[in-house]
Amino acid sequence: MNRLEGKVVIITGGAHGIGATTVRLFHQHGAKVVIADIQDHLGQAITKELGENVCYIHCDVTNEDDISNLVDTTIAKYGKLDIMFSNAGIVDRPSGSILDTPKSDLERVINVNTIGAFLAAKHAARVMALQRKGCIIFTASACTSIAGLSTPAYAVSKYGILGLAKSLAAELGGCGIRVNCVSPYAVMNSIQGLSEVEAAKSEAIMSAIGNLKGQVLRAEGVAQAALYLASDEANYVSGLNLVVDGGFSIVNPTLI
Ligand code: NAD
Repeated sequence: MNRLEGKVVIITGGAHGIGATTVRLFHQHGAKVVIADIQDHLGQAITKELGENVCYIHCDVTNEDDISNLVDTTIAKYGKLDIMFSNAGIVDRPSGSILDTPKSDLERVINVNTIGAFLAAKHAARVMALQRKGCIIFTASACTSIAGLSTPAYAVSKYGILGLAKSLAAELGGCGIRVNCVSPYAVMNSIQGLSEVEAAKSEAIMSAIGNLKGQVLRAEGVAQAALYLASDEANYVSGLNLVVDGGFSIVNPTLI
């Protein structure tokens, strides 16, 4: 416990799913957490639930002024920024061929997933470089290891994050900033909102297709991987893409 005692963390996309689970886990480990999201009611509900050492800031990651304000407000409130978990993301559509993908879908998904991550890293690096210390973590995806797992547009957006992370690990290492990715396979938090029958069916499919048979990946599994990368235990780990897929991608490199 307390693996992040006193650390100041921003989590984009922190109001729901993997982000919200990570907010709770990091807070439990002693971090001061800033939730950045566009779903204000959800973000505010988590701050109310957790009480001290957590706050919510409205931030659309595609808007550079929002990101700049997010980082500046964090510094004004807590005096430093130790960890940026750039996690906000969207899917363009559940499935589909490139032939059915309008350019507008590609632009929308790149805008949030890749440009949003770029801007979050840029403004985190601005203050971390002055501190000569910091940690940036991106949520990429196991679709970068398993062909056919996602739509082409989503794959483009997540491969872009891998390139960004490697590039920044090289550029920012000299400033004491570590940069890593966590890449989940299909996470079961998406059963929220499904009927009981649909959720049971979805869970059965996920546990059947996973490599660790009978087990499904939940948001907690991704949050634990992010916790490792954020903690001092990983203080010499940079440029890593930590794939959280139960080994699925090494036995199923393609779904096509
Ligand atoms: P989710 O939809 O539950 O949560 C995403 C959060 O991002 C939401 O709170 C949403 O409001 C926020 N968000 C969306 N657009 C935003 C914007 N422009 N600015 C700020 N916040 C914004 O999704 P999730 O499953 O928790 O996904 C989190 C990350 O994990 C994403 O980057 C996603 O691509 C990645 N991922 C998810 C899975 C999975 O199976 N769920 C698998 C691989 C990768």
